[in-house]
Amino acid sequence: MSSNKTALITGASQGLGAAVAKRLAKDGFNIAINCYNEDSMQNGGNLVAEECKKFGVLVECFVADVSKYDQCENMVASVKEKFGSIDCLVNNAGITKDGLLVRMSEEAFDAVTNVNYKGVFNMTKLVGTVMMRQKSGRIVNVSSVAGVNGNAGQFNYAASKAGIIGMTKTAAKELGARGILVNAIAPGFIETDMTAVLPDDLKTEIKKHISVKRFGQPEEVASVVSFLCGPDSSYVSGQVILIDGCLSM
Ligand code: NAP
Repeated sequence: MSSNKTALITGASQGLGAAVAKRLAKDGFNIAINCYNEDSMQNGGNLVAEECKKFGVLVECFVADVSKYDQCENMVASVKEKFGSIDCLVNNAGITKDGLLVRMSEEAFDAVTNVNYKGVFNMTKLVGTVMMRQKSGRIVNVSSVAGVNGNAGQFNYAASKAGIIGMTKTAAKELGARGILVNAIAPGFIETDMTAVLPDDLKTEIKKHISVKRFGQPEEVASVVSFLCGPDSSYVSGQVILIDGCLSM
């Protein structure tokens, strides 16, 4: 049943974002599904919305490119108007354009920075303002083990994900007095389209370094987001939770 609380998940047309949307719908949140463009809404977002509706909550898709401030502004205003409040924000939208530093184009650096890093600024500023007026809220930022440890071949991506950790800790300090908790998750290798492109021999090699010897499932990430958006994490803020099957130790 609906709790009359609303969660906005960016990049929720597939992968981790879709799993988070479904899990938070199961938890009783009304769900605002952000889709990158009309295509991602038609080919992914609408299906995710149908799955979420099975839990008896209100669900709607909102098209916006998170790297564009004006589009984020319109989306946040629309979500607020439709649902009345925004109680959880999950900054999940992200892309990769991998390559070694010396061969990385400026375009690849800018594209990843604009979506992964500036997108989190855009959405956190806009939704943080709504939450400050509400005097409550939860923000979960999707970082990565690459942001914690660095990763050869992902200079742009690792930088954006490390930046998200800095934004998480700073927002937690600035917004805590208004009842807003801000945390980050840092997944390792999770089975989505983002990791499907890795060659099989590389996947086999990576699994040797993961203690549990497998990639994670999106639902295993969504359950941690559920904790961070729910009542059991009411004294947790400014943290980075690794979800990597013990890859990082
Ligand atoms: P994915 O399957 O590629 O999904 C990424 C989502 O982000 C898609 O829905 C995509 O929309 C959306 N998106 C891309 N650019 C966007 C933009 N400018 N505005 C709005 N939405 C945009 O990847 P994933 O594995 O689920 O990744 C989700 C998050 O987890 C990312 O931040 C990623 O960095 C992080 N992460 C993933 C892993 C992993 O192993 N999979 C590990 C660590 C962290 P379209 O599909 O329409 O393009």
